[in-house]
This record gives sequence, C-alpha cells and structure tokens, in this order.
Amino acid sequence: MRICPICTGNQVIDGAIRFDHGGLLFELNQCLSCAHLFYVNTVEFNFREDFVHKRSIRGYIEKIADMEQTLSVVYNVLHENPSWKLGTDIGCGVGIVMDFAFTMRQCRMIGFEPSPDYSEEGSNVLKLHVVPDYFDLKYLQGQYMDFATCFQVLQLVSDPLTFLQEIKRGLKEDGVLILSTPDNEKLKDDNAVSHYFSAFSPGVHRQLFSKESLQAALTSAGFTETAIFRYNGHLFALAGSKDLSDIDLFRLNPEVLTDYYIKKLRLLQPGSSYFNGFWYRLYRTKIDKGDYQDAFEMLTSVDWFDVWSAEEINAISKPEKLFELNTAADGIIYYYTAILFLNHLHRVEYAEKFFELSFYLCSKIIQLHPEVSTIEKDIVWLAKYHQILALYYQGKTQQANLEAYQLRYHQKEFYNHIDHPPHDLIEKVVNLQEKYR
Ligand SMILES: [Zn+2]
Repeated sequence: MRICPICTGNQVIDGAIRFDHGGLLFELNQCLSCAHLFYVNTVEFNFREDFVHKRSIRGYIEKIADMEQTLSVVYNVLHENPSWKLGTDIGCGVGIVMDFAFTMRQCRMIGFEPSPDYSEEGSNVLKLHVVPDYFDLKYLQGQYMDFATCFQVLQLVSDPLTFLQEIKRGLKEDGVLILSTPDNEKLKDDNAVSHYFSAFSPGVHRQLFSKESLQAALTSAGFTETAIFRYNGHLFALAGSKDLSDIDLFRLNPEVLTDYYIKKLRLLQPGSSYFNGFWYRLYRTKIDKGDYQDAFEMLTSVDWFDVWSAEEINAISKPEKLFELNTAADGIIYYYTAILFLNHLHRVEYAEKFFELSFYLCSKIIQLHPEVSTIEKDIVWLAKYHQILALYYQGKTQQANLEAYQLRYHQKEFYNHIDHPPHDLIEKVVNLQEKYR
C-alpha cells in the first residue's frame, strides 16, 4: 500500500490522474487525508545539464510572467521587516529576486541554482553571490539567515520534508521562509492537463501541493507559525516562529517596480537579456498606466528593435528562428505598440498592422515555444479583436467582417494550434459586428 509522502496517511487513490505526454504515461496518486498529489513516475530530471532550460533562459529573463507578482510579494515582506539584511534564495534562477532585494532594500542574499546557465547569468551579469549547486547548509558557512525565499521549487523536490527542515536549520530563530508552489486545487478538473500544463510539468515536477498538504509539510519541518494564501493558481506561504498573518502579501507596488526597472536600465548593457526584460516591463507598465508620452519616448529612443514583417513571421518554422527576434517578448511589445498607436498617436492604420503582427507572432510562439507562452496566450485573441476594431474604425468593413467571422468560427489554418477564443471575447466581436453592420 502506498503512503502519502507528506502526512504519511495510507488512504491513497492510485492513478487519481493519468495522462499521456511524449509517448509516456504519467500517473499521479492522491492522498485522501491531505489532498496531496504525487507522481508515481520517478524520472530523474537533472537541472545541471538541461538543454531545454538553456534555450528557454532568454524567455525567462525577458518576459517571465509572474516576476512582478513575485517581486511584489518579496517587497511587501521586506518592507514589514526593515531590520533584515541577510537572506538566501533557493532556486534563484537568474537572480532577479536577489538583485531586487539588494537594489531596493539593501538585503544581501546568497542564491542557489544548480542549472549552470542560470547561475552564471546571475553571477556574471548581475554580480550576485550564486552557488551553482542545490541548496546545502554547508555553503552558508555557519551564517544564519533573516529570511529565505523559495519560489516554485518545492514541487520539484523528491523529499520535501527534509528539504524544508534544511531550510529551517539555515534560518535565525525568528527567521522567515517565503515560498510559492502550484496549487493542486483545480488539477482534477476536466482538461486540467492542457489548461494547467506548467503545473503538471511531467518529468520535472514530483509533488503538487494542496493547501492542507503544504500546511502539513511546513508544520512537520518545524515551522510553528504559518500563513498560506491561494493566489492565481499558486500557494504562497510564510513560515516562521511568530504570527505572520497580517502582511498584505499581494499588494502590487508598481511605483517600486518602475523605480527598480529604471535603476537597472541605467546600469545594464543594452542588448543583454536583463536589459531587454526590464525595458519591456517598463514599456508595458507605462502603457498600462496610460503614460503614453513616456512610452512613446522610450520607443523612439530605441535603436535595437527591428519590426519583422508578417511574411517573415509566418515563415518561422523552427523554435531556433524565434531567437533571432529582438527579445522573447517581441509579440507582446508589438501589442503594446499597437495600443500606443491607437490611443495616443491616433494612427489607426499603424495600430491595425501592429495588432496583426502581434497576433501572428504570439500565435507562432504558442505553437513553437509553448513552455514560455503564458502572456502570449493571454493577448493573442485580444490582438485579433483590436485588429478587427481598427479595421472597422478605418471603414474597412468587409475585411473586418471576414476577420470577425473567422475568429467566431475559428476558421483559419493557423488558428489550429491555439485554443479557441474565450466566450466574452467572441461576444465583444459579435457586438462590434452589430454596431458596424
Ligand atoms: Zn497526505
């Protein structure tokens, strides 16, 4: 009989979730007492030599979807604890959290990152203290940490209880662990594997926590006070030895983030992935806030961005070609540039073109590089909707109607590999057709 690796309960449903991926059958068991999900397959994934990671590194630095959220969480906790000066980031990736903590709160952090491409970026470009290895107390050399961060790592670990105990041993008595991991709440829904594929990450993830199993894991690792929050499909936890429930963990701090991006853009070389990533985030933030003039000035001062034609984009057939783009975020930058043309410069014909390019490129990225296409999935249909809107604005009614029809009925050859547009978007298109009939 199988036993739950977290609560050691012996009521386990074998094969609670089964799916096929890459010709292999993957199976997850679920504990009936704590709802923990764990893979039966024990494919050992070696982060030290992984070529997919190497290729995806640009995508992560330049546009990783949840960076703003993660940095806001870190900022909100550090802001409440101004005396903290020393921390560790376990699974620090390219070191953005460490760099942010130092730049904005003067906290020094020791990072752990076994994947050499990631750890080298952080060490060489951002000059951070990154240990190119798995977390091990010996590297802390007897220093105890005010805090530890561990984002999106716990699900990768084969023995989470021992791992959490080690982290606890590296903390000061009143030290705090801040962590996040996918929430398994919706993973048994229909179509969950395709909707939440990154949470499943077959062959890479080992455990998928429920709120209860995360609570159980932290408690048995010796954390006496914990606060666990559900947020956007993830669980966030604060764990320590004093009450932590008061912190407003998810308050977004756009002005702090903007300040950070501007500081970094002054220091970094244009053309580096970090530079591109911060540039894109600052540009997008300005447009989201309606600071169009600032965004326009950013755009006109750029000399490293070439716009690809629709023919060039549609001719892309291999993921390698995507790496010749200016940045991994080009499809999103086109979208925001189109918004700028539409709302600020009132050049509808240019807006229409950029929305169209954004649609084509986002759709290519979803097809060829799905692992890092979360934002593209969010905007691909918005881009098409706005393109149709821009066509109507220009009186190109016939073309607009055709595009609207194809969107509603998902009828276009290259639509096949992207999910159907959401219902509310289809409704908006129907309303447009009515209005411009
Ligand atoms: Zn359990």
